[in-house]
This record gives sequence, C-alpha cells and structure tokens, in this order.
Amino acid sequence: MSSEDEPVKTICPYCGVGCGLKLEPGEEPGSVNFKPWFDAPVNEGALCIKGSSAVQHVDHEDRLTEPLIKEDGEFREATWEEALDRVVEGLMEVREEYGPDATGFFASSQVMNEENYLMQKLARRYGTNNVDNCTRLCHASTVAALRDSLGAGAMTNSMADLRDSADAYWIQGANPAEQHVIGHSKYFKQAANDGTTVVQVDPHENKTSEVADIHLQVKPGTDIPILNVVLETILEEELYDEEFIAERTKGFESLEAELADFDAEEAAETAGVDLEKIREAARAFAEAGNGAIFTGMGMSQKTCGTDNVQNLINLALVTGNIGKPGTGVNPLRGQNNVQGTSDVGALPNVLPGYLEVEDPEDRAQVEDVWGFEVPPENGLTSLEVTDAAGEEVQGLYVMGENPVLSEPNSNEVEANLKELQFMVAQDIFMTETAKLADVVLPATSWVERGGTVTNTDRRVQRMRPAVDVPGNTRHDFDIVSEIGTRMFGEGFDYDGPEAVFEELREVASIYGGITYDRIGDEGIQWPCETTEEEGTQYLHKEEFPTEDGLGKIRGVSHQPPAEVEDEEYPLVLTTGRIEEHYNTGEMSRRSENLMRKTDHNFIHVHPADAEARGIEDGDVVELRTRRGEIDVTAVVTEETKQGVVWTTPHFADSQTNRVTNDAVDPVAKIPEFKVAAATISVD
Ligand code: SF4
Repeated sequence: MSSEDEPVKTICPYCGVGCGLKLEPGEEPGSVNFKPWFDAPVNEGALCIKGSSAVQHVDHEDRLTEPLIKEDGEFREATWEEALDRVVEGLMEVREEYGPDATGFFASSQVMNEENYLMQKLARRYGTNNVDNCTRLCHASTVAALRDSLGAGAMTNSMADLRDSADAYWIQGANPAEQHVIGHSKYFKQAANDGTTVVQVDPHENKTSEVADIHLQVKPGTDIPILNVVLETILEEELYDEEFIAERTKGFESLEAELADFDAEEAAETAGVDLEKIREAARAFAEAGNGAIFTGMGMSQKTCGTDNVQNLINLALVTGNIGKPGTGVNPLRGQNNVQGTSDVGALPNVLPGYLEVEDPEDRAQVEDVWGFEVPPENGLTSLEVTDAAGEEVQGLYVMGENPVLSEPNSNEVEANLKELQFMVAQDIFMTETAKLADVVLPATSWVERGGTVTNTDRRVQRMRPAVDVPGNTRHDFDIVSEIGTRMFGEGFDYDGPEAVFEELREVASIYGGITYDRIGDEGIQWPCETTEEEGTQYLHKEEFPTEDGLGKIRGVSHQPPAEVEDEEYPLVLTTGRIEEHYNTGEMSRRSENLMRKTDHNFIHVHPADAEARGIEDGDVVELRTRRGEIDVTAVVTEETKQGVVWTTPHFADSQTNRVTNDAVDPVAKIPEFKVAAATISVD
C-alpha cells in the first residue's frame, strides 16, 4: 500500500479522455475507494459511469493471483521461477527452431508507456519487428492518413481549445456522448450549448445526435461519397480558403480532378441521405468560422479507412481549418493509453517517437542507445500474426490483450491460436485468449502500479499505485524486464519505470522535454522536445512536419465495402460501443454497476426489417454472416436505418466478432469491423 495518508492521484483506466481521480485503500483487503480529484486537468472531478465504477473489478474474485502452467491440457499453479523459466524456454525454442520472425509480441493500450516501451524493445532484441498493439484494430488507418498527409499521427488540437474556439463541429463515425463521456459533457456539449454548430455523420442515432443540428444518417460504408458531395459543394460555391490552399497545401488539383465528373445525386443516393441536406451541412461547416473535425472508428474500421480519413483531412485543408485553436482533424482515441502505446514504438513499422523501422538513419538513432541492431524490415501486424499462427508463426507473447474476442472473424483466430507451439499470456483475468496459453502470468491492475499514459489529446499523465499488489501478481514492467534479462543478460534491468521513461526521452524526441517531475499533476502535451518547452496544445501552427512542410490534399473515390448485401445476406451489420461497457468487456463485465445497467448483448433492428421477419422486441434472434452465427436479443427501434442492424462487441457469450469481417484496409491493415453482409432470423 502507498504509505501516503492522502489519497493518490491517478488516471481512469478506461477511455482516452484521461480523467483524473483519487484512490485510497478500502476496508476490505484489496479493495479500493475512489474520490473526485476536483482540480484534475482534464475532468475537474467529473467521472462517467465507467470511471466511477472502475475500482469494482480490481478485487473481483476472478483476479489471477498465481502464475499458471498448462500440463496435459490443464492449468496448475506454479512458482514465478518455474513460470518464467518455461516462458524463456518456450520462446527461445521457437526462435531457435523457426527464427525470430516466427514469434509475435502484443503490447497493450491498457498498460503504461514504460511497459509497452519495454515490450517493443524485447521484441526487437529477440530479433523481430512483429510487435503491435490494439491501435491496429481501432485507429491504424487514422494514424496512417494523418502521418502521410499532415506529418503527425495524433489529434491535432485539444479538448480545451475545441470547446473554447470552435464555431462548428463535424463529427463523423464517432459518438463522444457515449464513448468519451466527460470529453463530451465538459467540452463538446458545452460548446454546442454555447452555439457551436454540430454536424453528425453516423448510421446510428445515438446520444451525440441529441446535440447535432444536422444528422446525416449515412448507410455504413459510404463515407467517401458523402464527403465528396460536401467537398464538391465547397468547391462549386467557392467556400474554400484559397490563400491557405496556396500557401500551406499541395495536391488541390487531385481533388479537383476527382470531383470533375462527380455525380452528386448518385453519391447521395449511394449514401442514403438527401442531397440538399448534405449540401446544407457542407455550408454550415465551411461558413462557420473555425471548424473542427472529429473522427472515430466508424471511419477508421473500414477497408477504405485510410482514404476515409484522408477525405476528412481534405475537408480541413480546403477550408483552412487546421493549425489554429478550434480546428483540426481530431481522432477520439478509445483506450486510456492507445496514443502512448504507438508513441513508444509498439508497432511493426515504427520505433519509439515514430522513427521508421525501414529508415537506416532512424534505426541507428535507437541502436546507439540500445546497443543492439534492430531488424531492418517491418514486422507483421497483430492480425497477420494471428492469421499465420500455427504456420509461419509458432510463438506468441500477449500482454493485456484478448485477440480471441477483439479480432474479427474470431472463430478462425481461436482455431489458429490453438495451433501455436508456445504462447504466454499476461493479464489480470483468465481471458478467452489466456485460456489457450501454455503459461499465464498474473499482472497487477491499474490501482496497484505507477507509470505514465498518454491520452487522446497527447497529454502525458502519471498513474500512481494506491494499494499493495494482490497475491503473487507482478507489474507488467517487472515481468517483461525479467524475461528480457533472463533471455539476453543485459539491457532490461531498470531501476523502476522512471528509468525506462528517461531512456524513452532519449530516443523519442517528441517526449524529449517531458520528465516525471515536469508532468506533475497537470500533464504535458507532446511534442515537447526540450525541458524549456511547455508542450503543445495544437499542432501545425506554422508548417506541417512533412518533408516539404505542406499538408497533402488527395482526392479519393468511393470504394464499396468488402462485403455487400445479397439475397442470402440482405442486411448490413455494423457495430458500436455503449456508454456502460468497454471494448471486449474484461473489466466492465466484472463491475456490478455496469452489469446492472446492461448485462447482455443486443441488436438494433429497424421496425420494417423486424416485421418482415416476424421479430418482436425482446426476441432472441440468430445473427448470421459468412463467418458464423451468434444469438442476440433484438431491440426493435428506429435508431438504426432500415436495412442496417447494429450491435456491440462487449459480451463473451454473444460474441459479435465471431461474425465480423476480417477484410483489411490495404495501407493500414485495419479490419472492416463496421460493415458485413448479414441475416437475422427468429425460431
Ligand atoms: Fe474514464 Fe473516459 Fe469516463 Fe473519463 S470519460 S471517466 S476517462 S471512461
């Protein structure tokens, strides 16, 4: 337990808003109480239902407390000595037999920067760039488009300036009212109440729709056509910023060429939205003054995800809405540390600080600090690893991730992982993935450890331990460090997380000026290259960090989803998260408050589609796609469009990812969770 009498200040473990709260030990052993942290920089004491229930899972009876080794198909308790020996032996055998690229390493946005930094360093010391994190499943396409066209793969602006300085919001494929609740209530909704015009583009009516002045209820998979109507309207009606385009961008002619023979009526019909309503939305945004764009997984989780986000970048650049407060392209990141996990290089193509794996000079920068050579070629993504599991891939080290629930077409993922020669899973609960492992290592939870996390607006904040570690659990930091030391002797023995952070500062210039002391209670937003700088509230003020300093406009064409409706599968299946649950639900399904609110999966079905199939509200229906079927409870509602069914990814016993599509975007290799051809029926 912390020896302090005062409650410790730390950060909510759930979404990327990064709300602060205080913790102190509860009366029962292992339990924790929370208190508001009224001067926390982001949330000023406010918490949503998830944040205020986040202490409930930490002393749940399902917590793993002892290392486990599988023998004859059954787990038995083991000492750490035995378990770590088995891990080192298992992974080194795979390396010797098949080479280092036959193993994958999964980092996690649920753990801290220091731990993810160590995990990617371990992968590279092992001899592979096969290291990835769950950004592959949420915003890989967003990061790819932003890095390519604007030079930095992160939210351009900050929640504070978006509240104070924006005149219009364009929110496409995101639902901040339910997924970034405090960001919405303290920032975006407040701005809307004060007169900021809100345009929402989303197939589903949700709580964000309540603040929208215009809701374009688009058919899933048609974001490019709808944005092309918007861009054509802006060009036709000369609502663009000629000076900004001339001075700060390149490629405007490619957009003009794309739209030269554009048929706006056909595009509106494809998107299923009234043409004049789209034009009205375009004018509302372009004529408003400062316009800010928000994007989420409704845009990124598509086979055209990179082009989807590029079209939002086009909208920002042609209207001159970037490089000043209240503007920009702003991905709302889903997890507590998903920004930081990529910042520290837990990606197959990127080293810490976004240095490129395939650039010899970039590699040399980290090799100088690390003292070993980094493999020169990009590694496999997490989906490529699970796809090749049992074949080219024979080893897997999973830290804090659950690909059996989180990856699409998960029947196949599960079958493949069973074929691995060796897998180690490190987690706080026995996840569906951990059940398949040879060794399971019990890790500490968010209330028991310290380090740093980076929230959606690039703010690096400190997390601090409030209670002793339970049972025989260990910090992810210590486990990875010890495995690295046992494997390679040196380079992994650190005197605590701060020492790792100091090394991160050396190799990642965007973190160069950030120290534990300077982070304090307020946090610091990267880039912050020297200790003289205060951090950066909004990016791209004078020029873009691209080779020529310009932002890239690139016209893009509609690409239909990988799977479209047909006679056998006449409905479009799409997915979304709900306020009271979190991703695959490992934590939120172990919280009484959250389960009291919703304890099972459900599917929204339009009344006309329900009637045609004899489905009534509350019926358990079979949802089927080409990859399998699940049973799920029907909710008959007009919140979804006719022809579209909408469900959630949170429940293991009605597991939506058994039926989602694993087709990927060719650039970012992110899967198309958001569109599949489906059918539903009731017995
Ligand atoms: Fe936690 Fe996000 Fe809710 Fe804030 S908005 S309390 S960070 S889940």
